[in-house]
Amino acid sequence: MTVVNLEDVLTTPELDFRASRKPDYEAENRALVAVAEEMAMRPGHILQKLADIILDVCHCDSAGVSILEPSEGGDIFRWHGTAGLFGSMIGGTMPRNASPCGVVLDRDSVALFSHPERFFLAAAALDPPIEEILLVPFHVDGRPAGTLWAIAHNAARRFDAEDSRILKSLSQLASAGFQLYASLETAQRASLAKSQFLATMSHELRTPLTGVIGFSNLLETDVVGSTSGPQKEMLARIQTSSWHLVGIIDEILTFSRAESGKLEVHATATDLVEVAREVLRIVEPQANDHGLRLSLEETGERLEISTDRGKVRQILINLVGNAVKYTPTGSVTVLIDTTESDWAAVHVSDTGPGIGAHLRELIFEPFTQVDGSHTRATGGAGLGLAICRRLAELIGGEVTLESTIGAGSTFTLRLPKTR
Ligand code: ADP
Repeated sequence: MTVVNLEDVLTTPELDFRASRKPDYEAENRALVAVAEEMAMRPGHILQKLADIILDVCHCDSAGVSILEPSEGGDIFRWHGTAGLFGSMIGGTMPRNASPCGVVLDRDSVALFSHPERFFLAAAALDPPIEEILLVPFHVDGRPAGTLWAIAHNAARRFDAEDSRILKSLSQLASAGFQLYASLETAQRASLAKSQFLATMSHELRTPLTGVIGFSNLLETDVVGSTSGPQKEMLARIQTSSWHLVGIIDEILTFSRAESGKLEVHATATDLVEVAREVLRIVEPQANDHGLRLSLEETGERLEISTDRGKVRQILINLVGNAVKYTPTGSVTVLIDTTESDWAAVHVSDTGPGIGAHLRELIFEPFTQVDGSHTRATGGAGLGLAICRRLAELIGGEVTLESTIGAGSTFTLRLPKTR
């Protein structure tokens, strides 16, 4: 192949002379709405959606979105969205200085190339070959950061000024799309790093704490010398505080495992009535300390479903434990509800202060606590409900809340009867 100069493959001025098709504003509007919807619903897919839209509104054979990124051997363009005949080349890269995209960024303007492989030799490997490629830059923070492109692999399709206008209009959306994509990536990286940090930190804290508990047990049972009354009381306090810390650390560990998708589901035949009875036995001493009536309402029949028993138990311990923790006087009732045909439900109701409408979703977010002073007194990490919700989702169920200020709260765990 004869190698030619850049100007020989750049045919941008032809856009001004070619007969231009009429704008189809209706199709364009539909496309813009589709991109906006994707931004709202699935921001991580926005660049691919843009590629699909270009293919559609420019009636071309391939389309895509390339983004400049640094790499060890020099800057490269990565294809973050591809559609049409080059659809399978998603994720592909090209060195900046060997790609038509590089020229578009250097000149910061629209460019049309005809048979670009005559100048960009790497493009000769592309199959099918490019007849024409139309590119526009898009900007982030005022600087060109990538390109949108439309390709014709067939000599009968010639791009015109209308295609260039559409690409320019989509390029504005691409800037917003890219910023959304970039912030999502940063947030996901930060969230993963946070989960890993929490998991490591909790693990490191748990080991010495188990030592503290073990040695204070030894002291208490007088294995190491004799301990006096006040010393025994101090030891008991050390143990209570240590177990409390272990509880918080375990919550953080469970939460970070759930966040990083490391929790496994082990389904077995589980009788919900029996799990509820066990949970009540565990929480009973706390309820007695608070002077609360704790009861289970059930018909006496088993309610067996296939689910992860350990996770159901953990969810109910949190819900019933919270009901006891946040109810100053009155009662906590657990009701097993078999009336729904597809779902088994466990309602945990209390006669506590209730939760305001604006907080009913917020309290399921990690580290959210409503009343700082009361929570400090009861000492949690604000993770219990976030864990409940994640565990319930993991086993195909849900946790919901109904509450009226001054008239208590009802948390409901709903699980599918068949899986
Ligand atoms: P924690 O109990 O560790 O603070 P949770 O995620 O279990 O964390 O609960 C979050 C917040 O929701 C609590 O701090 C509390 O303010 C509120 N809450 C939870 N359960 C109840 C309840 N049954 N009644 C009133 N408030 C509740």
